[in-house]
Amino acid sequence: MIPTPLHAALDAVSAAALIAGPRARGWPKGLRGPFAAAGLGVAGYSLLTRYRQGSAAPLSMGEHLALDALQGAGFCAAAALLDRAPREVRTTMLGYGLFSLAAALLTDRPEQGRRTVGRQVAVPSEARASIGEGPAHEVVPGLAYRRLGIVNLAFLGARGAGDRGWVLVDAGLPVSAGAITRAAEARFGPGARPAAIVMTHGHFDHVGALEHLAEAWDVPVYAHPLEHSYLDGTASYPPGDPTVGGGAMAAVAGLYPTAPVDVSRRLRALPEDGTVPFAPDWRWLHTPGHTPGHVSLWREGDRTLLSGDAVITTRQEAAYAVALQSPEIHGPPAYFTPDWAAARASARTLAALEPEVILSGHGAPLGGPEMRRALHRLADAFDALAVPDARDRSLPPDRSEGRA
Ligand SMILES: [Zn+2]
Ligand SMILES: [Zn+2]
Repeated sequence: MIPTPLHAALDAVSAAALIAGPRARGWPKGLRGPFAAAGLGVAGYSLLTRYRQGSAAPLSMGEHLALDALQGAGFCAAAALLDRAPREVRTTMLGYGLFSLAAALLTDRPEQGRRTVGRQVAVPSEARASIGEGPAHEVVPGLAYRRLGIVNLAFLGARGAGDRGWVLVDAGLPVSAGAITRAAEARFGPGARPAAIVMTHGHFDHVGALEHLAEAWDVPVYAHPLEHSYLDGTASYPPGDPTVGGGAMAAVAGLYPTAPVDVSRRLRALPEDGTVPFAPDWRWLHTPGHTPGHVSLWREGDRTLLSGDAVITTRQEAAYAVALQSPEIHGPPAYFTPDWAAARASARTLAALEPEVILSGHGAPLGGPEMRRALHRLADAFDALAVPDARDRSLPPDRSEGRA
């Protein structure tokens, strides 16, 4: 939304204001120093930034924006912590911190060119699956979902299924435990605990309330064995890549938590025969790429697909698309996907199922022939549509090209 040249101009003005402003306002010396240092910092990393394509400066716009975001967060934190500083100083710090965060989130990154993940396969809004009312929206009988900020989680089981009569898929953000419990009780009855929690994968926005809920509900957690190290506290994911995606959610991806949660005491492997414990209509499918042990869930009876993050239904890299949930079929969130060849194969596996309804980890549930057409387009032209830069990522050539 903010063009890069305007961002460059804002950087110059901010640096000057940080250095000269406190002196002009007659603030005490002890406060002028840190502001001047921050100003020199902004000036320094701005001089090192590639604002224009072809410039030889070492910092990419993505890295620059990550520094802006860090700096903004730092100023906001300082404003909160320095409770003995004059009010005017704290207000200025908070204002500048928020300004810096906004600049980081809202700036376009045209230099990324091919690395930008744009809209992929738009789907008309009629393709939105109709959903029921309440804190847990019924998508089709036996499947409800709840959107918690940027992420979805799913409830498998009939309305009113009661205690231990249902299964939770994924566990939202760290602050979500209360909302998940309330949605579950609204759907399944007061005090209703699940029989199991199934994890599509272990990213921070899917495991947020997992430790808390698994403990509170005393329930087993099922995941693919290749995902276990991210759920038993032994391995961290590679850090999010802020240089792909070209949007605000991607710009701050380097700051997303990657450390594992630890539910080792309750962790079980999904059964090798493809069944989903306590959800007899459902099968799990290994759909790696976004993470090594990523799984999707499939119900053949009504051709319903829970795709996790293997294929999603909004442009997760961009904050505005996440907020609007504009429907589209989209490859896995780019900033968090390390293995694009596997991701491509997984998208094709899912398209070949010919689903009637798809509920993914991010975005509104979609259904019908338009959705299927879009899913096939994405799967067929996956490298061009979903992969930020196939060459950079040394993606093995797509042997099915021309055949699809
Ligand atoms: Zn993910
Ligand atoms: Zn996700």
